[in-house]
This record gives sequence, structure tokens and C-alpha cells, in this order.
Amino acid sequence: MAIQKLLIANRGEIALRIHRACHEMGIKTVAVHSTADTDAMHVRLADEAVCIGPPPAKDSYLNIANIISAAEITHADAIHPGYGFLSENAQFAEIVESHNLIWVGPKPEHIRIMGDKIEAKRTAEKLGLPLVPGSPGPLHSVDEAKKIAKEIGYPVLVKAASGGGGRGMKVVPDEDQLESLMGQASAEANAAFGDPTVYMEKYLGDPRHIEFQVFGDGNGKAIHLGERDCSIQRRHQKVIEEAPSPVISADQRSEMGALVAQAMAEMGYRGAGTIEFLYEDGKFYFIEMNTRLQVEHPVTELISDIDLVAEQIRVAQGDGLSVRQSEVSLHGHAIECRINAEDPQTFAPSPGLVKNYVAPGGMHVRVDSGLYAGYKVPPYYDSMIGKLIVYGIDRESCIRRLKRALEEFVVDGMKTTVPLHQRIIATDAFTSGDYTIKWLERWLDENPVE
Ligand code: ADP
Repeated sequence: MAIQKLLIANRGEIALRIHRACHEMGIKTVAVHSTADTDAMHVRLADEAVCIGPPPAKDSYLNIANIISAAEITHADAIHPGYGFLSENAQFAEIVESHNLIWVGPKPEHIRIMGDKIEAKRTAEKLGLPLVPGSPGPLHSVDEAKKIAKEIGYPVLVKAASGGGGRGMKVVPDEDQLESLMGQASAEANAAFGDPTVYMEKYLGDPRHIEFQVFGDGNGKAIHLGERDCSIQRRHQKVIEEAPSPVISADQRSEMGALVAQAMAEMGYRGAGTIEFLYEDGKFYFIEMNTRLQVEHPVTELISDIDLVAEQIRVAQGDGLSVRQSEVSLHGHAIECRINAEDPQTFAPSPGLVKNYVAPGGMHVRVDSGLYAGYKVPPYYDSMIGKLIVYGIDRESCIRRLKRALEEFVVDGMKTTVPLHQRIIATDAFTSGDYTIKWLERWLDENPVE
């Protein structure tokens, strides 16, 4: 059934991104927003808007009853959850479908499997994806943990089964510290996710984070759109992403791509997904799968010329994938910088009034952001206020264009991470592509701003 009117259950740049795809497809949009977001750009642009609650996310963007009511009173026929908030909530997906609304997302059972990292690893193993060596399931006791750690060798990583955003994760250097760090990881996991379950993985010393974009039609057909390198991280949060990875060869790409697409086909996966790997010494290790659109999806769009949100909508309304694997042609290079309202040195949040705003432009420069002069960035949500995504015919020209675009970026009234990006992309490590997930933190420690 062709979607006529779609409710966007999100805020910020991703809500705007979804609105744009909808309008290009002739689909009307309904924005939902908290009282803190009345003046947000996506609320202004949407065809209709419904206030769903006060600023705290649990009362608005996570308020399932209010979101479903908003869909019913506006006669929307579909819901797109964006990323974060309810996007990986299988129960929400089921509720949406039980109200005869189209869920623009994967099948609820697949969201559920991949949301449990232990279940996800079991599934990945069955589907033939390479795993990080570790515990076969949850850790039941300190003795069991000690035994497994001895087998795989220290250091090990204790991770939360319901984890996300790097929380509930502890590196254990040796057996003496296992009991106390395992207790801390479990307590942190319980506080953050209401689930104390933890598991163990070998701690890889200096890997890269490389993820594959996949798409399934839900009926056994699936494709991949290559990889993204997201190794520039701070506290396990991505800062800069690029596609393709500077270290992956065309052969590795087609080999791993074929493997992940085959896995998704076998699962009957529907919609967009990302399969995340750590990559060290030429080998891939599956860590998790995200059953949603990612923040960094635009880098893939720029090198594939495929609108991933439009593709999600196509698949959700039963039109299938717009391309076959043989028709996917990846070209050039794209880099994304996440622009946060943060002090670029201390990383303290810096929300407030945007006094002046000038977004960079020119050839192959894309800014996904809801900012405008006079807009007040509310303090209640994530500090990311936009993304700068730049394309080049090759990596070198892409970096030159990115440098030029960052020079043009003006956000007056608050501190942003623009100066941080300028410093990072000027380093030899970045320009040569020779960086790992540890590099940024190490470099920040060694190069404090005077
Ligand atoms: P989350 O869902 O909390 O983001 P992930 O499993 O995706 O957790 O891991 C987040 C980040 O933590 C990875 O990008 C990587 O930087 C680091 N990490 C995860 N597993 C390992 C591991 N086994 N060894 C080394 N680093 C890891």
C-alpha cells in the first residue's frame, strides 16, 4: 500500500531528513514534538504537527501512547522512528503494526534478536559471520568468567547484553580485577538499561570500527552498500565517519559485502540495517547489528547515489528494493563530521540561542541540520546539532573540500565541535588514513589546546 501520510517519531536533523525524503516522494508528513521543540525546523516544515508532551524524552519522544494517538488523530498511515528514541524498540514496532499503521523499519522479531547482544552474536554465528572470541552467552558467575578469560587471554572486555552508547562496558586487564570490574559493568548496565546481564569478549588492542550497510526486502532478497569507517571515536562515540574505509580493498569489500548480504537474505531481513565489525590485522570481528538508519548514513548515500530513507519507505510499503546488487555502483569518497553543541576542548554541552548561522555550501557539500538564526538549542536532548557531509572524487579532494567547508561554518552563540574537526583533519594520522578507534583519545591527551 502506498503511504500517503507519514508520522515522524523523532526530532532534530533526522526528523528533517525524513521529512525531506517524504516530500520528494509526494508523502505528507506529521511532526510530533515536545513543548521544548515547538520552534524546531522540522515542525515548521511538516504538513501537520502534534505536541506529544513536556521536554523529558520519556514523557514525549518515548511516550508510545501519545505518539500512536497523534497518528490516529492525523490519519497518518505510517510511522518512521529515525534513530535513537523508539527506533529499536520491538514492542513499539508491534504496537504500530497492531494499529494498522505501516512500520518503516525491520520486522519486530529481528529488532528483538539484535537488541539482545548475546542473541545477536548467536544469530551472527549461525549466519556465518566472524565473531570476537568470547563467552558463548551471559556470564553466570565470577568463576565461570575467570575460566573463560583464561581461555581467551587478558585483557578482556565485559559488556552489557542490552548495551548501547558504550555504557556498561569495562576493560579487565587481569584476573585480580575481574570480580570488581564485572560487578561495576553489571551495576552500570542495570542502571542504564534495567538489565544487569553481561557477557565477555576478548579486548582487541587497536582495531578499527568498520560497518556494512545492508538492506533487505523482507522476502529473502538483500543487498549491501559497502562499508563505513567509524574509527574516529571518543568514549566509544563516533566523531567522524567516512566511506569507503581507507584500508579496505575492493576484494575485501565484495567478499565481506556478499557475506553480510547473504546473512540478511537468509534471515529474511526487511529494511535498513548496519552490521558492525571491529577490524584488526586484516580480520573482521562482528560486534553488533543496528536495526535502524544510522546517523552516518549520508556518507553511503553520497557514494552510492541511493536515498536510504526513500529506500526504507519503498520497502516498508511493499515495493521491494530499487536496485539489485549488480546495479549498486560505489564511487568517490565521502566524509561526515558530527557537529555538536559542545566545548571543543572539555566537551561540556553548550546549548543556547543561535545568534547567527551560516552553513557551508558549494559543490558536493551537504549539511543536515535543523539550525537557523534565532533558534534556541534546547538543553534536554543529544548535543548533536547537525552533520556536515562532503563528497570528493577521491579521499584527498574530499579532505580538501571538507577543510574549506569547515572554514565557512558559522554558528554564533554557542560553542561547537567545528574547531575540533579542523584540528583532526589536519593531522597526519587522519590524512594518511592511519588511525584506529584509540587514536583520537590518545591524540587529544597528547595535544591539549594551550
Ligand atoms: P555499544 O552498543 O554500547 O555502542 P558496541 O559493541 O557497539 O557497544 O561497541 C562500541 C565500541 O566499543 C566499539 O566501536 C569499539 O570502539 C569498542 N569495543 C567494543 N567491543 C570491543 C572489543 N571486543 N575490543 C575492543 N574494543 C571494543
